[in-house]
Amino acid sequence: MAVQAPCIQLNDGNTIPIVALGTGRGTAKESDSIDEVRQAVYWAIEAGYRHIDTAAVYQDEEQVGQGIAEAIANGLVTREELFVTTKLWNDKHARDQVVPALQESLKKLGLDYIDLYLIHFPIATKPDDSPDNIDYLETWQGMQDARQLGLARSIGVSNFNATQITRLVSNSYIRPVINQIEVNPTNTQEPLVAHCQSLGIAVMAYSPFGFVVSRGQTGAPPPRSDDPTLTALANKYRKSVGQILLRYLIDRGLIPIPKSTNKQRIAQNIDLFDFQLTFEEVAAINQFNKNHRVIDISDWKDYPNYPN
Ligand code: NDP
Repeated sequence: MAVQAPCIQLNDGNTIPIVALGTGRGTAKESDSIDEVRQAVYWAIEAGYRHIDTAAVYQDEEQVGQGIAEAIANGLVTREELFVTTKLWNDKHARDQVVPALQESLKKLGLDYIDLYLIHFPIATKPDDSPDNIDYLETWQGMQDARQLGLARSIGVSNFNATQITRLVSNSYIRPVINQIEVNPTNTQEPLVAHCQSLGIAVMAYSPFGFVVSRGQTGAPPPRSDDPTLTALANKYRKSVGQILLRYLIDRGLIPIPKSTNKQRIAQNIDLFDFQLTFEEVAAINQFNKNHRVIDISDWKDYPNYPN
């Protein structure tokens, strides 16, 4: 049975469903075909998801668009009922590159507007990934242009640290609605989440399963899926460990972005609204924190605006 996630209001008055399907292919296996993204998007809409997260750099916007188009054609949903997020890549940070980059994404998605457009990283690069010296305040002017043209209903950022968020808010006339960052048990990000929330900026949580799912990294800190704290909660609420981790994020006021291309797990990852964790249970999961990231961005550590 389809389960719908509730919506919350963003600081610009638009509303956003609090669970998004992730389509980034960082966890894809070599055997996975890109076409599975189209299928996953369709299954997700069928299961009740109304929010899909993609990005220009994932190179899957066409497949996301095809999954959406099929769902609309089959009468599962209307465009207006969907909330689609995509992101501007680092090599398109000059103000006059932003609108054309979004138009290119929209063309691939087969959409005439995006619900949420994010600056993917505060770092600017040249197309060969060498550093470029473009201030994200300039990029934000391009994002504001996109919103004024009606191409993006809401605009926000991703991977910005607290200093960068403050500087952006102090120097722009449209406040970002979202900061999309990594949050999971080994990287709980409590100070950054609190900072964003204090400014009315909602937080989307990527890589929500942390190292509970295999990332092919050796020596990553616990928890794993057999961790007693997590399995006790799963038994108590008759949910999977994955569902406990997603509920943990929701109970912190975050918007998780679980990625799955498996039909059963896609359905499971939105079946989160018949239980909630106590304050103490959320605090117990916070105890795993080691400020240890799943997504390693240290190759850019010497670039201007690296988000320490
Ligand atoms: P996730 O934490 O969503 O983990 C995905 C992995 O978990 C896959 O291997 C998936 O396998 C597995 N999985 C899914 N559901 C379950 C479940 N219920 N139980 C156990 N395992 C499960 O990681 P991602 O790093 O992919 O992040 C999610 C999304 O966030 C991305 O797809 C992307 O949209 C976004 N993102 C944004 C970034 C940014 O810089 N803004 C950076 C990274 C990600 P299977 O598919 O087989 O179910």
